[in-house]
Amino acid sequence: MRPFRYHRPAGVAEAVALLDAAPDGAYLAGGTNLVDLMRLGVQRPDLLVDVNRLALDTVDPLPDGGLRIGATVRNSDLAAHPLVRQHHPMLSRALLAGASGQLRNMATTAGNLLQRTRCVYFQDTGRACNKREPGTGCAALHGQNRDLAILDWSEACVATHPSDLAVALVALDAVVEAYEPDGPREVPVTELHRSPGAHPERETTLARGTLITAVRVPPLPFATRSTYVKVRDRASFAFAVGSVAAALDLEGDIVRDVRLAYGAVAHRPWRAYRAEDALRGRPFTAELAAQAADAELAAARPLHHNAFKVPLIRNITVRALTDLAGPVNR
Ligand code: SF4
Repeated sequence: MRPFRYHRPAGVAEAVALLDAAPDGAYLAGGTNLVDLMRLGVQRPDLLVDVNRLALDTVDPLPDGGLRIGATVRNSDLAAHPLVRQHHPMLSRALLAGASGQLRNMATTAGNLLQRTRCVYFQDTGRACNKREPGTGCAALHGQNRDLAILDWSEACVATHPSDLAVALVALDAVVEAYEPDGPREVPVTELHRSPGAHPERETTLARGTLITAVRVPPLPFATRSTYVKVRDRASFAFAVGSVAAALDLEGDIVRDVRLAYGAVAHRPWRAYRAEDALRGRPFTAELAAQAADAELAAARPLHHNAFKVPLIRNITVRALTDLAGPVNR
């Protein structure tokens, strides 16, 4: 591991200034992803700015009925928070579907959003990877790509974003509050992560050195009827092969409103706008849910080893929505 300096700033402004002056530095929060990548030699920061003691660790209700989640709130604490469990169960379920109890006790809200892909070639410094070393190629494109993207990938990168929490936050239209070197900024989570294009090394729309300070979840009354369904190779502890975050608002059997987002299908958490449009205003049936998923997945371009993800995502869309609709609407 490359030697590094360590600094614990007293406030947000100092943290951002420290990283702005250190092009190869990194923020350290839970460290559950960063420290692994440092050990592997994938990330080699020369400065760690430890943000764990900044006052960013509370969950606060907002006057409009929404929630403000501090950047360093631990995943375990957020999953167990009574307001999250009551008003946004999909968030709690997404968090509890991720990692192990020990990791959730360390991992933070912002760190979860900014975690790096688990593409095996990204973590192997002996293999070509445009994300790790721009211009070297993509070993996954014609290699082991079973777990990788089916939507929106490029010749330069076919990786997926690994976060479960981000999928739920995209479905809920959450907003990131951040401090860039030039000052505060807000970014919808739907616009936080980039498509890979020709530059998969650029993963978010944040300027270098930006510190996420909080995530704001707007009120969504029907999110009390929401869920997160994740398919993974091991029930105990594994990243998603495919996942769906869903919230459903029914008036009788008519879909008044719906939120859908998919995980493990693209370089960014994937909001399923086409599927939502196909559902709104129609009588809910399992067949309609399948048709809606097909509308979203019409743009899918499976890789050599992952065509199974298309029916998998369709099936878990149907499962999530029929569970939310209840037995009378199946
Ligand atoms: Fe690297 Fe992306 Fe290709 Fe994986 S898919 S090897 S992360 S460029």
